[in-house]
Amino acid sequence: MRKQIAAANWKMNLTLDEGLKLIESIVSENIHLQDHREVILGIPFPYLLAVKDPVKSSDNYFIAAQNCYFQKSGAYTGEVSAEMIKSVGADYVIIGHSERREYFNENHQMLAAKIDLCLENGLKPIFCCGEPLSVREANEQNKYVEDQLRESLYHLATEQVKGFVIAYEPIWAIGTGKTATSAQAQEMHSHIRNVLAEKYGNETAESISILYGGSVKANNASEIFSEKDVDGGLVGGASLVASDFIEIIKALK
Ligand code: PEP
Repeated sequence: MRKQIAAANWKMNLTLDEGLKLIESIVSENIHLQDHREVILGIPFPYLLAVKDPVKSSDNYFIAAQNCYFQKSGAYTGEVSAEMIKSVGADYVIIGHSERREYFNENHQMLAAKIDLCLENGLKPIFCCGEPLSVREANEQNKYVEDQLRESLYHLATEQVKGFVIAYEPIWAIGTGKTATSAQAQEMHSHIRNVLAEKYGNETAESISILYGGSVKANNASEIFSEKDVDGGLVGGASLVASDFIEIIKALK
């Protein structure tokens, strides 16, 4: 079975102390994660090193950075490279979150370069895609998401895409309390899997975990995750509340 994943995205929230307490509350719940399940915590850069032991002392718990720079190294004051992220023990990097695309003007080419740098450094990208409301209202979401995949992922070889993690996050559902219905999520996830199957073949497409993101909460996670092509969630707001995130982890298939 492909990986079923509950991924947290803390964004720019919590002090180090608050973050460590949150981690302690989650891991002390001792949720048994069978091998096909993973919990990934998307942590602000300054805390990556400090959370390594508390997070990774539990089986199948991993750490993600929320971004990396698209250049390898050099005179880019304030930026953080994939190599640096790897060196402090992170496992994943969230790439192409809609907030980064919108507020930091990240384009397809930059995201493709970031993915390459992650892979070169042994980090697993969590590639985010998803349409704005205007595109959904025009019923053009399938083509919009397909373009995002083509422009940033299609240069990768089949071997690099096997076991990849993609997060479908309709922008109109992020932080708005407006969740896509489980049917809307399934429809897009199945579209993404079909598009990837055309490019990389069925076996590879079936190995890819496609997470849903957009107002996943303790009370809707089970319904959304039960859809055939939904392999867990990327969770913002609800990942900041231990009891809510614990319920979301327990809702994984
Ligand atoms: C996100 O930040 O990726 C996200 C889905 O946020 P929220 O769960 O708050 O909608």
